[in-house]
Amino acid sequence: QDFSDYFLKRELLMGIYEKGFEKPSPVQEEAIPILLSGRNVLARAKNGTGKTAAFIIPCLEKTDVTKQHIQVLMLVPTRELALQTSSIVKEMGKHMNVQCMVSTGGTTLKDDIMRLYNVVHVLVGTPGRILDLADKGVADLSKCHTVIMDEADKLLSPEFQPILERLLAHCMPNRQIGLFSATFPVAVKTFKDKHIENPYEINL
Ligand code: AMP
Repeated sequence: QDFSDYFLKRELLMGIYEKGFEKPSPVQEEAIPILLSGRNVLARAKNGTGKTAAFIIPCLEKTDVTKQHIQVLMLVPTRELALQTSSIVKEMGKHMNVQCMVSTGGTTLKDDIMRLYNVVHVLVGTPGRILDLADKGVADLSKCHTVIMDEADKLLSPEFQPILERLLAHCMPNRQIGLFSATFPVAVKTFKDKHIENPYEINL
C-alpha cells in the first residue's frame, strides 16, 4: 500500500509526504479506506501506531475548504492532546488552506467565541467546552458530518458520557464516527452499542 492508492487530494498528499511519511502504518492501512468510505470505525490502537494520522488523513480528505462551516469534530480528553492533534491537522493540511481551531477548558470562553467569528473547518477540543459553545449557539455543529473520538477510554468517563451524547445530538443525524482507544472498557462498549451503528472494528 502507498498513500497515493487512496486517491487523496493532491494538496493533502503533499502535506503527508512533507511530514516524511512514505507508507501507511498497519492502523492507517485499515482505517483510512474505511473512514473514506463513510463507515463508522472502532479501532483498538495504542499511541505510537500512527493512529493520529489514521483519522486525520480521511478527515482532511472529507473536508471541503470552499464551505465555511465546521465539518469535522475531533474530541480528545486533554488540552495537551488537542494542541498536538491540531498541529498535525495544520501540518498535513498546510496546502489545503484548512482552518483548524482548538477549544478546551482552562482558557477563556470569550476568546473561543471571538475565534469562532472566523471560518473553522475542523474543531479539536475537549467535550465540555465544545458543548458549552454549541449550546450557546456559537459553534454551529449542524453541518458537522464526522466526529472523531481519540483516547475514547479516557473520554468516556462517567462524567463525560452525557456530554458526548449531547454533543452528538448537535451534529448531523447521519454523522460518521471514528472511535480510537487503547482499551475497551464497559463504558466504551455501552457507548458503541447506543451510538455507533455497524462499525468496522480494527484490532491491532
Ligand atoms: P501516533 O501513534 O499517531 O502518535 O504516531 C506515532 C508517530 O509515528 C508520530 O511521530 C508520527 O509522526 C509517526 N507516524 C505515523 N504514521 C507514520 C507513517 N505512515 N510513516 C512514518 N511515520 C509515521
